[in-house]
Amino acid sequence: MTIAEMRRELQAGRVTAVELTRACLERVEATDEQLNAFITVCAEEALVAAAEADRRIAGGETAPLLGIPLAVKDIFNVTDLPTTCGSKILANYVSPYTATAVARLTAQGAVIVGKLNMDEFAMGSSNENSAAGPVKNPWDLERIPGGSSGGSAAAVAARQVVAALGTDTGGSIRQPASHCGVVGLKPTYGRVSRYGVIAYASSLDQVGPLAGSVEDCALLLGAIAGYDSADSTSVDCPVPDYLATLKNGVAGKKIGLPREYFIEGLDPDVKRAVAEAIEVYRGLGAEIVEVSLPHTDYSVACYYLIATAEASSNLARYDGVRFGARKDSGQGLIGMYQETRAAGFGAEVKRRIMLGTYALSSGYYDAYYLKAQKVRTLVRQDFLNAFAQVDLLLTPVAPTPAFKIGEKVNDPLQMYLSDIFTIPVNLAGTCALSLPCGVSSEGLPIGLQLIGQPFAEADILQAAYAFEEATDWGGRVPELG
Ligand code: GLN
Repeated sequence: MTIAEMRRELQAGRVTAVELTRACLERVEATDEQLNAFITVCAEEALVAAAEADRRIAGGETAPLLGIPLAVKDIFNVTDLPTTCGSKILANYVSPYTATAVARLTAQGAVIVGKLNMDEFAMGSSNENSAAGPVKNPWDLERIPGGSSGGSAAAVAARQVVAALGTDTGGSIRQPASHCGVVGLKPTYGRVSRYGVIAYASSLDQVGPLAGSVEDCALLLGAIAGYDSADSTSVDCPVPDYLATLKNGVAGKKIGLPREYFIEGLDPDVKRAVAEAIEVYRGLGAEIVEVSLPHTDYSVACYYLIATAEASSNLARYDGVRFGARKDSGQGLIGMYQETRAAGFGAEVKRRIMLGTYALSSGYYDAYYLKAQKVRTLVRQDFLNAFAQVDLLLTPVAPTPAFKIGEKVNDPLQMYLSDIFTIPVNLAGTCALSLPCGVSSEGLPIGLQLIGQPFAEADILQAAYAFEEATDWGGRVPELG
C-alpha cells in the first residue's frame, strides 16, 4: 500500500495503526537479515505511538500521516534513540532531542519504527562505509543500494516501510533511490530544516523523502518543509500544497536536456532508458530543448573541496569529550583526542578530514577553498541561466546502474564519479528528484533526474507524476527470498 492507501484504510477503520506497524515490523524481521537496512528497530516505542495514533483516529483526527509507520536515516536525532550516523565514534550516543523534520512527522501522528543504515557521516555512494556493515540492494543482494542513504532506499524498495527520510549532500537521496527503484526528492537548500540532523557539509546538506510513489513523496515533503527558527538557513517562504498541483501534467512545459550530461561513457542501458523517458515526455506534450551547463566538468572537484572543508570543521566536535566513544590509555588530553579519533572514524571519513583540513590550511586556502567557492557560483549561475530558458531539466541520475559490492571500494576517485550528475544540483542549491524510468539488461532499476528551479519542487513533482502515470516503471517491488 502507498501512504495514501494506508490513510484511506485507517480512516475507514478497515485497519489499525497497530496492525500496520506490526506488519511493518514483521517485514523488517523477515528481510533485514538479508538487507541490513536498519541500524535500530524501536518496536516497543513504535507500538506505543501506533496505539496513540489509533486513539486519535477514533477521536476523529485526520492528519495525512496519522498512524503511518515510517523510518528515518540514522543521521536524524530522535529523543531517547541511539544516533550512530553509521560511525563507531557515536556507537554509544543516545539523542537528547528530536530533529525538526522528524518532529513534524510525529506531530501528525506518524509512527517511527527505526533508524536506517547509511555511509558513515553520510560520506559515500555505496553504503559500504558504514560501521554497521554494507546494505544490500534488494534487486540483487550482491550489489550496492547506493549511498549514503542506502538503508532508506533499500528499506523502501523492499517495502519494509512505505517511505523514509534521507539526506542529500551530493546525491545521497537521489542516487540510492535510482539504484533501488524508488522515488527520492532533494528539496531546495533551505526548504527543510536541518536542525537535529548531524552535519556533514552544512552548505550542501538537505533533508528529503524517499517513497514508493511520487504522490507519497509530495505528501511527505509537505509535512516536513517550511521555516524553522532553529535552523538559520531554513527559508521563510510559504509551502505550497504539493498534492493540489500534482495532476496538472506537463503539456506546454519546456524541458531542457543539458548537453554535458549526455556524455560518452554513459552506460548504454541508462542512455536507452533516459532516451525513452524523453520520448514519453514529448508524447505528453512537453517541448524538449537542448541547453548547456558549461561548468559541469568542474563540479566534482569543486564539491570535494567544499564538502571536505566543511566536514573537517563539523567533525572536529567528535573528540571523545562531549559525544560518543572515548579511547584513553593515559597519554594526556591530546593523546586521548588522537586515540579516540583514530579508533572511532573509518578510513573514508579520515581521508575527507585530511583533505578538508589541507584545503583550509593557510597558504592553500585561497588556491583551493576560495577558488572552489568561486567555481560554485559559476555552477549555480549555469543553472539559473538554463532556467531562464526552460521550466525544468531532465538528466540521468547515475552514469551506471548499481555496481557490485566491493567493485569500487579501493578506488575513491571512481566512487566519487558516481555522483557526477547529482553533485551540481547541491552546489547550485536547487531541487531535484529521482524516479524509476527503466531497468537494465540485468534487471536493475534505472532512475531519471528532474531538476527544478529553486523552490519549484511542485513543478518537478508534477512532471514526475505525469511520467509515473504514463508508464509502468513506478511501484515495482523486488522479490526477496
Ligand atoms: N557520495 C557523495 C559523498 O560521498 C554524496 C554524499 C551525500 O550526499 N551525503 O560525499
